Amino acid sequence: TLSATGIHKSYGSFQVLKGASLTVERGDVVTLIGASGSGKSTFLRCMNLLELPQEGTLVAGRHSFAFGKGQKAPNDAALAPLRRDVGMVFQHFNLFPHMTALRNIMEGPVQVNGMTPAEAAELGRDLLAKVGLADKADAFPAKLSGGQKQRVAIARALAMKPDVMLFDEVTSALDPELVGEVLNVVRNLAVEGMTMILVTHEMAFAADVSHRVGFMNDGVLAEIGPAEEIFRRPQHPRLVSFLERFN
Ligand code: ATP
Ligand code: MG
Repeated sequence: TLSATGIHKSYGSFQVLKGASLTVERGDVVTLIGASGSGKSTFLRCMNLLELPQEGTLVAGRHSFAFGKGQKAPNDAALAPLRRDVGMVFQHFNLFPHMTALRNIMEGPVQVNGMTPAEAAELGRDLLAKVGLADKADAFPAKLSGGQKQRVAIARALAMKPDVMLFDEVTSALDPELVGEVLNVVRNLAVEGMTMILVTHEMAFAADVSHRVGFMNDGVLAEIGPAEEIFRRPQHPRLVSFLERFN
């Protein structure tokens, strides 16, 4: 279970999150939708504490953090295990350019999890096969297409054996013809039962793959429900007008 409750996040005097809450159970696939600037990415980054909120609580499995007056900010030693268990893939893949695809995937398991290089290489090859890139182990990122790079980035995140995966618009930087191959990898993870929180503008994909869809509006999760409820019977007036743009 991952539970973020009452999350407040400001940058200076600018309030981005104003008490956003979301609980995700094991095996749940939840997609966050909402207008640009509504706080989707910020909320997602709070779920593995890449951003530290000013107020709220985050519970992820055995990790528990509270923010607010009188709470001490967690240090890196406390954050590292959380980030290992809650993996994240971004719009821009940030692969290490000087490492092959396989080495990119091996890096975390070896450096952070203390896996032997031989074990990590075996895991890396398995994961490359899983994302359809068994033949690209020795390719450097510059020689890969955007969709291939993004699939390596997903494999790299999976190599840490996370309990939860966060995906922030992983296809929005890709050429349209490369979107499908990345969405297929995400869809397969959903079918396997991976717990995931996605942010996407691909509404058809969200409807297809998500158990629940949440609508972010003005720094809060304004509405959440089963995908068919949210898309067919939206309640919040801002959600109604948001969805009209996609029809
Ligand atoms: P998009 O759909 O465009 O990705 P989003 O819903 O993901 O939007 P966020 O990236 O969470 O929105 O940003 C919410 C607001 O917070 C925006 O107005 C953004 O400018 C602001 N913001 C985000 N990160 C920072 C930061 N590091 N410093 C200052 N302002 C920020
Ligand atoms: Mg965003």
